[in-house]
Amino acid sequence: MGKISSFTYEFIGVHVPKDNILLNEPMDKHTTFRIGGKARCFVKISNAGQLSKLVPGLKERGVPYFVLGNGSNLLVGDLGYEGVILQIGSGMNGMALENSNIRAQAGALLCQVAKYAQQKGLAGLEFASGIPGTIGGGIVMNAGAYGGEMKQVVAQVTVMDEKGQVITLEGDSMEFGYRTSIIKSRPLIVLEVLLRLRPGDPEKIQAKMEELAQQRKAKQPLEFASAGSTFKRPQGYFAGKLIMDAGLKGYSVGDARVSEKHCGFVVNTGRASAADVMEVIQKVQKKVKEDTGVSLEPEVILLGDF
Ligand SMILES: Cc1cc2nc3c(=O)[nH]c(=O)nc-3n(C[C@H](O)[C@H](O)[C@H](O)COP(=O)(O)OP(=O)(O)OC[C@H]3O[C@@H](n4cnc5c(N)ncnc54)[C@H](O)[C@@H]3O)c2cc1C
Repeated sequence: MGKISSFTYEFIGVHVPKDNILLNEPMDKHTTFRIGGKARCFVKISNAGQLSKLVPGLKERGVPYFVLGNGSNLLVGDLGYEGVILQIGSGMNGMALENSNIRAQAGALLCQVAKYAQQKGLAGLEFASGIPGTIGGGIVMNAGAYGGEMKQVVAQVTVMDEKGQVITLEGDSMEFGYRTSIIKSRPLIVLEVLLRLRPGDPEKIQAKMEELAQQRKAKQPLEFASAGSTFKRPQGYFAGKLIMDAGLKGYSVGDARVSEKHCGFVVNTGRASAADVMEVIQKVQKKVKEDTGVSLEPEVILLGDF
């Protein structure tokens, strides 16, 4: 049973309905890479009350846990994860209008919130409509595209700490930076977000979202499973160009491949393992470093045992 004892399962079962607790759950079902071994315990969270019991309880028992959104920036090792996955997804995805702001729960998908904003005639979130993550994951990563980033639209974030206490943080105290936020360095869980948008014409907002979707389709290998850009953009360079110039376009190990359409993406063309992806990542890092001296840092988050 690994690091999780039957007492821990019982403890989780006291706070979450049994149907929402999955044991030995394959993580390839929960990541856009379609890769990953089994998580010892996978819990579908429905409300903050559950988290306020589980998080301090797991911490007290020394059981590792990981907060999962839509798994779109994640590579889970082939040997899985010996801990508890707390999934904040469709069980916590409500949203509502507050004046010209939108309050959204962390599990709402960025595309759903962007669509909602469009229907309400609120502009500013168009950039996020094609990013396949949740609002919670988008805050953690300060997700961005086409000149927009979450930082620009976040007014307030409601988070929970490891004691189960709920805290409201103002947008400007979120320490947003390139693909990072305060939540990358502090054990906080995003519960909900208040987005500050501006009035706009729904037709124009829709047209902008469609234009960006077209650009994405033309440039990104959306036909294959991936976790988006594999590497962060090194200052002064583009990862994809460095990789192409290193002659690694199409480089593959098993079914993991440097996309021919966009070299910044490592894609899973079939049944790639996490080990295959890691081998491609390491080869890319080594060759680009040798050729240019630039270190490529993965943007993708690694979880579990490889
Ligand atoms: C095809 C494709 C295109 C992409 N394009 C872009 C793009 O244009 N721009 C961009 O920035 N990204 C892009 N991504 C990457 C990814 O979609 C974003 O990083 C997204 O914000 C991740 O959200 P998620 O819910 O999937 O998070 P996950 O992958 O589930 O988790 C990411 C991190 O956030 C943490 N986390 C998630 N939810 C919470 C929460 N509620 N509280 C605390 N921590 C949490 C996790 O623990 C993890 O550390 C793309 C990915 C794919 C597959």
